[in-house]
Amino acid sequence: MKDKKAKLYVITGPSGVGKGTVLSKFFEKNKGNIIYSVSCTTRKPRLGEKNGINYFFISKEEFKKDIENNEFLEWAKYSDNYYGTRKDFVLNSLENGKSVILEIETQGAKKIMEEYKNCVSIFIMPPNMDELENRLRGRKTETEEMILKRLDIVKSELEESKNYKYVVINDKVDKAFEQLQSIYEKERAI
Ligand code: 5GP
Repeated sequence: MKDKKAKLYVITGPSGVGKGTVLSKFFEKNKGNIIYSVSCTTRKPRLGEKNGINYFFISKEEFKKDIENNEFLEWAKYSDNYYGTRKDFVLNSLENGKSVILEIETQGAKKIMEEYKNCVSIFIMPPNMDELENRLRGRKTETEEMILKRLDIVKSELEESKNYKYVVINDKVDKAFEQLQSIYEKERAI
C-alpha cells in the first residue's frame, strides 16, 4: 500500500545496545509498511550474517568507487571499516510511498538529520554502561581489541543522544519495542 506520509526514520544507538533485536520485533509487526535499508559495509560478515540481508558486504575498493560515484546518501568510517546507505534505494522507496528505516551510527545520522530535517530520529540508549559492556562481550562476535575500540566510541555516541527527536531506553526488549511502536504510530498519524 502506498503511504502518503512516507517518512525517513533514523535509528541510532551504540554498538551492543540491542538495536537489532528491537528492530526485528518491530519489522515482524509492521511487515510491508516500512522498509529496512540494507547498508553496504567493508567489514567481514559475522557468523550467520547474509549478504544482501544484513549488509551488502563489499571491498574497500568498491566502497571508495561508490563514494566517488555519489552512490551513498551518507557514509561513515566506523572502527576501521566503512558503512554507507544506498541513495537510490532510499529515495525510490520514499518516492513510492514507503517509509524507510536507516539503522546507522551517529556521524551518518548527523548528516541525514542536517539534510532531511523532517526525518524521525530515534536514539536507542543502554540502561547503563556496565550492561552495554556485558552485552557486547556476551555476543562473542568481536575480539577484545575490537570491544575496547567500540566501548571507546560509545562514550562519544551517548553525547549525541540529545540531538535526537526521541530517546528509547533499551532496558527490556519488549518495553523498548513498545516505545518504538508507539513512536511509529504517532509519526504515521502526523
Ligand atoms: P556493526 O559492525 O555492529 O554491524 O555496525 C557498526 C555500526 O555501524 C552500528 O552503529 C551500525 O548502526 C552502523 N551502521 C550500519 N550501517 C550503516 C550505514 O549505512 N551508515 C552508517 N553511517 N552507519 C552504519
